[in-house]
Amino acid sequence: MTSNDAVQNPDIPDTMRAAVLRDTAKGLEVETLRTPRPKAGEVLIKVAACGLCHSDLHVIGGAIAFPLPAVLGHEVTGTIVEVGPGNEHTGLAVGQNVAGGFLMPCGQCDACAEGHDELCGPFFELNRLKGVLYDGTTRLATPEGESVAMYSMGGLAEYAVVPSTSVAVVPDSIDMVPAAILGCAAMTGYGAVRRGADLRFGETVAVVATGGVGTNIVQIARAFGASQVIAIDVSDDKLAPMAGYGATAVVNSATHNAREEVLKLTGGKGVDVAFEALGIPATWTTALDVLADGGRMVPIGLGAGVQTAGVEINRTVRRSQKILGSYGARTRQDLPAVVDLAARGVINYKDVVSQRFPLQEAGAGYEALRNRQIQGRAVVDMSL
Ligand SMILES: [Zn+2]
Ligand SMILES: [Zn+2]
Repeated sequence: MTSNDAVQNPDIPDTMRAAVLRDTAKGLEVETLRTPRPKAGEVLIKVAACGLCHSDLHVIGGAIAFPLPAVLGHEVTGTIVEVGPGNEHTGLAVGQNVAGGFLMPCGQCDACAEGHDELCGPFFELNRLKGVLYDGTTRLATPEGESVAMYSMGGLAEYAVVPSTSVAVVPDSIDMVPAAILGCAAMTGYGAVRRGADLRFGETVAVVATGGVGTNIVQIARAFGASQVIAIDVSDDKLAPMAGYGATAVVNSATHNAREEVLKLTGGKGVDVAFEALGIPATWTTALDVLADGGRMVPIGLGAGVQTAGVEINRTVRRSQKILGSYGARTRQDLPAVVDLAARGVINYKDVVSQRFPLQEAGAGYEALRNRQIQGRAVVDMSL
């Protein structure tokens, strides 16, 4: 075998089931597609689970344009079943369990060379705009040969091709189904705390919107030594478990004035860092309202297309406040760190996953997410 030969696995079926989006009015429907095969610098995984993430809703609902038909699903775990050529340096091998990160750096551009995976230009231009991988083509097609776009790796399927830059090997102790959230919800939370805020020991924190990402920010902020973590949401149900993840206080901003409550909790100062994890104008306002003088507001929720939020000019200027957008994380450095935090029990990824859907019901799962009925995170469990 030469180094250019892919390691072929004879057990891989010719076709697979995938949740396909053809029409934003109809939503996801399970179809049979050709099983994708990896090219250079890629691996094929048999998907164990795929998380249902809020940002997919913008694509499913048509608020963010994306080529259709497409397979969504961008936070996955699975087992490597085939390794494409050019992976000799990666240490990746058939049989390894991995987590896949949604942000798939090309590894070649200037941003990637500087370690800024989150700013990878080709990722946006090729995957996020065109639904393809780095050779300019998708790995997905119908049995008739119609191309199907990939949003990230197209994880809502039985098999998924993932660039090897975007997978981290997970130890056997990791519970593969809930671990699907590591590649987006947990990684984005880590990126927000470690990269966006550069949180320092003893700082005070608020987390606005305690869904999948927000719950992870609460945990990771505590792990990084935040002295106070104030969880803020409009739902008492979502706030109820936050103390178990390390929140020192919770505030329901629908029934209470968040600014007054946070000022009371912080000796009149407000918080050093306010994370915003939903991407709507109301949560931006709340995050800015609870910020201390000189504080950092770190927004990480994506809005529905082109959306603006109100920022009080004079307060931002006179109080020297900073708004530090944070997208995902540096996949190659940060996803292995997140896996390690999960494996060591520093972050609780298992309890964040509150519901498991079979692939057939992925559409119903997203509907529940749209209706804000999901506590923490829901996942599609391929074994169901
Ligand atoms: Zn996501
Ligand atoms: Zn790049």
